Amino acid sequence: MSTVNGGISFWYAQEGIPDPREPLPGDTSADVVIVGGGYTGLWTAYYLKKAVPFLNITVLEAKFCGYGASGRNGGWLYNGIAGRDRYAKLHGHEQAVRLQQAMNDTVTEVVKTAAAEGIDADIHQGGVLEVAYTPAQLARLKAFHAVEIAFGETDRTLHGTRETAERIRVQGAVGSTWTPHGARLHPAKLAKGLAAAVEALGVTIHESTPVTEIRPKHAVTPYGTVRAPYILRCTEGFTASLKGSHRAWLPMNSSMIATEPLPASVWESIGWEGRETLGDMAHAYVYAQRTADDRIALGGRGVPYRYGSKTDNDGRTQPGTIEDLREILTRFFPALAGTRIDHAWSGVLGVPRDWCATVALDRSTGLGWAGGYVGSGVATANLAARTLRDLIQQDSGQGGPTELTSLPWVNHKVRNWEPEPLRWLAVHSMYAAYRGADRRELTGSTTETDRIAQYADRLSGRH
Ligand SMILES: Cc1cc2nc3c(=O)[nH]c(=O)nc-3n(C[C@H](O)[C@H](O)[C@H](O)COP(=O)(O)OP(=O)(O)OC[C@H]3O[C@@H](n4cnc5c(N)ncnc54)[C@H](O)[C@@H]3O)c2cc1C
Repeated sequence: MSTVNGGISFWYAQEGIPDPREPLPGDTSADVVIVGGGYTGLWTAYYLKKAVPFLNITVLEAKFCGYGASGRNGGWLYNGIAGRDRYAKLHGHEQAVRLQQAMNDTVTEVVKTAAAEGIDADIHQGGVLEVAYTPAQLARLKAFHAVEIAFGETDRTLHGTRETAERIRVQGAVGSTWTPHGARLHPAKLAKGLAAAVEALGVTIHESTPVTEIRPKHAVTPYGTVRAPYILRCTEGFTASLKGSHRAWLPMNSSMIATEPLPASVWESIGWEGRETLGDMAHAYVYAQRTADDRIALGGRGVPYRYGSKTDNDGRTQPGTIEDLREILTRFFPALAGTRIDHAWSGVLGVPRDWCATVALDRSTGLGWAGGYVGSGVATANLAARTLRDLIQQDSGQGGPTELTSLPWVNHKVRNWEPEPLRWLAVHSMYAAYRGADRRELTGSTTETDRIAQYADRLSGRH
């Protein structure tokens, strides 16, 4: 059987594409319009409606809820947030510790709320294990571990070769760090369950309804315009396709593969009984999960960016990327050399120029937005949603400032990306540098991070 490429994602091949909801029938009005039906939009609708049940909320979704990264991701629900270290520099260490604490709590919040709403998204709270398999990666791993502890994650642990192998036997692994603040989930089941929960609360969802322009108090679609005091842009990696936002968050590609279900004999050789989400310390890092039906789903960057901020065609990825990911899979687990790859797909995530996630409400226009999560959006979208709820309640006089509205990522401003071809050149050069650095670190014995990778980090605005 050959590998299915695209079809949105493996998660939808398993779950089935949901029945479409009705598009917008014509001009109308609402109290809040949410553009985009991914985790950010759906969680925002959820918390707003729960807080103020009489609010008239409309979600406008170009395709179907969960069509974007929310239905295609690696299913790492974890406490990482893009930009925390920069926020520490801008606002002080204590503020960044608050942000980190809020992220730790967010993992628990998602698990708890999914259970309360009866959403079965194959959630397993096994934490996150990140491994090192080169001397340079090990040095980075130890430094990373120390930094996380300094940001208040005192329950994070560090492991040597033997202890790492007791959890997951990644070939050549010389160390790992583990945090309990993470869970594995089935992305599409969460998106589908959330959309149903939101609808059951009385939120209106229109699918197959692309918004062509957002302006104060107006969301314009080919079928009509929805007027509302608040319009929230929750389009993450697709934001560049909106009028006036072409150079905002850059749509970065990430691709994944899913193996066939693996037999017990293979799991005996690999371990992974704790079902931790698994990552590494490479510059072009890898992320993986053991699925509920005993496959490995593994992702990495592949071709990172398409010229002109284009996005993929329903999740199709490049054949070369499938081979690269298969190579990583068998380098990690040589026992999988003959294993079938059932599915390959890709999606886009949003990268701001300074690599910092943000959530914002412009009180003078009523326009709000959240995103730029740079590949750490599964939990962050939930924190963003609760923050948007509080910002709107504050603005409409139904509440005051809260613990969430004073977090350092709220209303953070970021400059635009450079025009093409500079944007394309910058991202491709950066990832070429990372891949080269990973190769050199793999064959070398130095404990120092490759200089070119450090330079690429600085040049790209990543660190
Ligand atoms: C392959 C891959 C793996 C990832 N793995 C992880 C992971 O393991 N852990 C993690 O934390 N993060 C991961 N991420 C990132 C994470 O999935 C995203 O950050 C998160 O899902 C973003 O949610 P969102 O709702 O903001 O955006 P999306 O889920 O992308 O939703 C945006 C929605 O807006 C709709 N839309 C776009 N334009 C318009 C328009 N003009 N009008 C109306 N609707 C529009 C889209 O159709 C889409 O449904 C991954 C991302 C990818 C692509």
